Amino acid sequence: MIGCKCPVCRSDDLRDQRTRHSLIIESGGTRLLVDTPPELRLQLVKEGIDSIDAVFLSHEHADHTHGLDDLRIFSGGGREPLPFYVAQEFEKELKQRFDYIWGEGEQTQPGSVVPDLDMITFVDGEPISPAGFEVIPIAFPHGVYRSYGFRAGALGVIIDGKSVTPDAAKMLSGIEVLIINALWFGDPHPGHFSIEEAVKVGRRLGASRTYLTHIAHRATHVEIEAGVPSGVSPAYDGLVIDL
Ligand SMILES: [Zn+2]
Ligand SMILES: [Zn+2]
Ligand SMILES: [Zn+2]
Repeated sequence: MIGCKCPVCRSDDLRDQRTRHSLIIESGGTRLLVDTPPELRLQLVKEGIDSIDAVFLSHEHADHTHGLDDLRIFSGGGREPLPFYVAQEFEKELKQRFDYIWGEGEQTQPGSVVPDLDMITFVDGEPISPAGFEVIPIAFPHGVYRSYGFRAGALGVIIDGKSVTPDAAKMLSGIEVLIINALWFGDPHPGHFSIEEAVKVGRRLGASRTYLTHIAHRATHVEIEAGVPSGVSPAYDGLVIDL
């Protein structure tokens, strides 16, 4: 947090240096990127990621979208446009916000590069296959908004969200690994799970491993680890999960 002197923000433990949410699903060298946060470029450089085959966007909030321009490195220059999957309800807003990418008749200054993104829209519960991965987009209430997570095989992901609808729970039934947003211990938040709430969701869905993400700066990695039951872990930047 800018200007913050709390123990998490001043921690030497690299797992306490939390950038905003993104993840990559990778199989046989094919990669699906989920979300384009403001730190996307730094994250990709740090992890040595040099190619992306498709993108899935959870929702239009700035903390999940404002690194979008850095996708230009993966498209253009004679390559196919990068498939960019987003829920139908965010199409209009995104096209307005990133008018220079999707706007009608936009002219690019010679010598400059903008991302070449092929927007493909999805709806809740209808399977898509970004980069060949079998993905079921799932809507989650997120305060007064909605955000989309997904199921991909044994993996369930709830990126932003505050509750799991009965339909969503059905789509997630039988998952082994859950990745879920959780801000902190204690106080309920209108748009996100607390750690206690996220732990309950993992238990209810029967996940054998639950990873907490989208964590704020009220508790260190070590403090969270000590405060959650076995089978639940705080995620951290650079974490790799084998499925
Ligand atoms: Zn802090
Ligand atoms: Zn959000
Ligand atoms: Zn968020």
